[in-house]
Amino acid sequence: VASQDGGNTERAISRIREQGLHERLMLESDLLRALERQEFELHYQPQVSLTTGKVVGAEALVRWRHPERGLVSPALFLPLAEESGAIVPMGRWVLEAACDAAREWARLGFAHVRVGVNISGRQFKPESFVPMIRSVLSASGLPPSQLDLEVTESVTMQDIDTCAAMLRELRELGLTTSLDDFGTGYSSLTYLKRLPFHTLKIDQSFVRNSHVHPHNAAIVEAISQMGRQLGLQLIAEGVEAIEELNLVRAAGCHEMQGYYFSKPLPFNDFIALLVSGRILV
Ligand code: C2E
Ligand code: MG
Ligand code: MG
Ligand code: MG
Repeated sequence: VASQDGGNTERAISRIREQGLHERLMLESDLLRALERQEFELHYQPQVSLTTGKVVGAEALVRWRHPERGLVSPALFLPLAEESGAIVPMGRWVLEAACDAAREWARLGFAHVRVGVNISGRQFKPESFVPMIRSVLSASGLPPSQLDLEVTESVTMQDIDTCAAMLRELRELGLTTSLDDFGTGYSSLTYLKRLPFHTLKIDQSFVRNSHVHPHNAAIVEAISQMGRQLGLQLIAEGVEAIEELNLVRAAGCHEMQGYYFSKPLPFNDFIALLVSGRILV
C-alpha cells in the first residue's frame, strides 16, 4: 500500500521496528489515545454496478490523521492494532462511524447506497460479535440491509461450523457479508460451499494487469464463473484501467471498485460524488 505522505510514515515505522519492543509498546498505547482523541477517520471508496454504472455502495477504509505524521495508511497501524487488541475498540468505532455515514446518505436521498465495513479476526468472536453488531445497528437506526461486513479467509478459517453459524445469524439480521481478498489465501472450495457469504470480492492482485497477464485473466474468469454458479455476488477490486474494467465486466462480475472510477474519498467528497450523479461508462 502506497503511503500518502511521501514515505515519512514508512520511515517512521521502520525506525520504530528497529528500535524494538519499547517503542512499539508506545505506539500501541498511541493507538488507544488516538481513538480517544478521535484522530481516526473513514474514507469511502465507491462500489459501482457494472450493469447500471451507478454507485451502489462504498467500502469504509480507516485512516489515522496523526498530528505530526499526517494521514497514516492502515497498512502501517493495523498490524499493531491487531497484535495489541486495540483493533477491538477501534473496530467498533469504525462500525459506528460507518453506520452514521450511511444514515446520512439515506437522509440525503441515497438510501440504496450500502456501506462496507472491514472486520478483523480479533473482532469476529462467537460470544461477542453478533451481539455487538446488533447493538451498533439498533443504536444507529441504520436499516441492516444498508450494511455489508467484509471478512477475509483468515477470519473464517478459525472454525468452519462456528463461522457458518455466525454468518447465518448475520444474514437473519438482514445484513450482507462479503469474503474479502478472495483468491489470496487458502481459497478452499469446501469453505466457500459451506460458508453462506453473499458476496465474493476478487482480490486486486488478480484484477490488476489482468489485461497484460493471461494467467490473471484466467483466474478472474474462473472465480467469476464459479461464484456465479454458487449464486454469489461478485465484486472486482483494484480496477485501475479501462482494459481491466472491460475484462471484469466480460467475466460477469456484478460490481467494481478501484482507482479507475475513484480512490477512497473523504466523507464530504463521497457525498459530492453521489450528488453529482456521476456514473461509470
Ligand atoms: P481491503 O479491504 O482489501 O481494501 C482495499 C484496499 O485497496 C484499500 O487500501 C484501497 O484503498 C485499495 N485500493 C482500492 N482500489 C485500488 C486500486 O485500484 N489500486 C490500488 N493499488 N489499490 C486500491 P487501504 O485503504 O490502504 O486498506 C488496506 C487494508 O486495510 C484493507 O484492504 C483492509 O484489509 C484493511 N482495513 C482498512 N480499513 C479497515 C478497518 O476499518 N478495519 C479493518 N479490520 N481493516 C481495515
Ligand atoms: Mg475490504
Ligand atoms: Mg480486499
Ligand atoms: Mg486487503
